[in-house]
Amino acid sequence: MKITEIRLYHLSAKLPETIGNAKIFFDRRDTLLVEVVAGNLSGWGETWALPAAAASVVKTHLAPLVLGQNPQHYRRIWQDMMRAFETRSGVATMAIAAIDMALHDLAARERDIPLHELIGGARRGEVTTYASGPFFKPDGHPYRDFEKEVEGYLAAGFKSIKLRSGYSAFDDAKAARLVRSMIGIDADLMIDFNQSITPRNAIATYECLADVAPLWIEEPAPPGDLAGYQLVRSHMRCAIAGGETFGAPSDFLPFLDAGVFDVLQPDIAICAGLSGTSQVAVLAELHHRAFIPHVWGSVVNFHAALHLTATLAPQRAGGQSPFPFMEFDVGANPLLDLAGRPTVTQRGTIEVPQSAGLGITLSPVMLEPFTVDHVALS
Ligand SMILES: [Mg+2]
Repeated sequence: MKITEIRLYHLSAKLPETIGNAKIFFDRRDTLLVEVVAGNLSGWGETWALPAAAASVVKTHLAPLVLGQNPQHYRRIWQDMMRAFETRSGVATMAIAAIDMALHDLAARERDIPLHELIGGARRGEVTTYASGPFFKPDGHPYRDFEKEVEGYLAAGFKSIKLRSGYSAFDDAKAARLVRSMIGIDADLMIDFNQSITPRNAIATYECLADVAPLWIEEPAPPGDLAGYQLVRSHMRCAIAGGETFGAPSDFLPFLDAGVFDVLQPDIAICAGLSGTSQVAVLAELHHRAFIPHVWGSVVNFHAALHLTATLAPQRAGGQSPFPFMEFDVGANPLLDLAGRPTVTQRGTIEVPQSAGLGITLSPVMLEPFTVDHVALS
């Protein structure tokens, strides 16, 4: 079947309250979903890029390479899209990510198999997840709701938590000790600085909270700051995680060569889709490092990551469960609830969908309350 149409949906959802990390607060969730149509089937993809910018790239550069093609040739189409740009980063690879994700979903739906089967076969029926939260709040003590919200995560079935950190070493350490006491020693605690502090400050904070035994420290330096990561690496005993904003698989190479990444975290909606992210998975395997996709955005990127994570080989890396883990963004997010909020089992896992493609049903009608712009390309 040939691809006949590409539909773009700029979605914007107001949040009930402003939340954020130590770098930025936000009160909306915006994303661009891409629907690629062939016959009476369609596949869904998502980009992390600014919706208007990504939509422009799809219209001007990608649509001519995709329309009329066979979705089963998703890897050849991905190569053509990557070759269409001088640089392999930025909005270009993020827009490619959305198309590539949609092509995978569509190819799997055409064969009537789940996405995990298309990309090699699931190794597990449920994936260990962790709560990525709580988030900071403005206008008052930014950590003020941490205890209440972690109580909610534990009641929902989560076992392990990744804390937002970075306002102050003292408060980060206090929050980490509190949450460690709540989750116990049979669960994992991770710390995410979200690029919000200097490497030196990250080291000082780590020294204040090292006794809670964090499984990893995430983004303790700006994304491209290799020297900063090297400084951090020389002072921390625990694993270092990063790379969630990297737009090209090759961006991971200098960090692997320098030995500063223990956990590689490409985002499928940023790092050139499932095709690009799969290359990072190979790099992780060749360097004997862990690979845990970063997950943000809507239910589309969430399910792409869930299927990919289901296919990864198990790896012991010091956690209570073997890797891989699945990141679950637990902040308010209507775009994650579009097809019903994914549920967590009382074992702290998420079941892997067994229906065709991503395993979710979306329609323009469901998106309508959040759609601020819609374009159809044919
Ligand atoms: Mg992060």
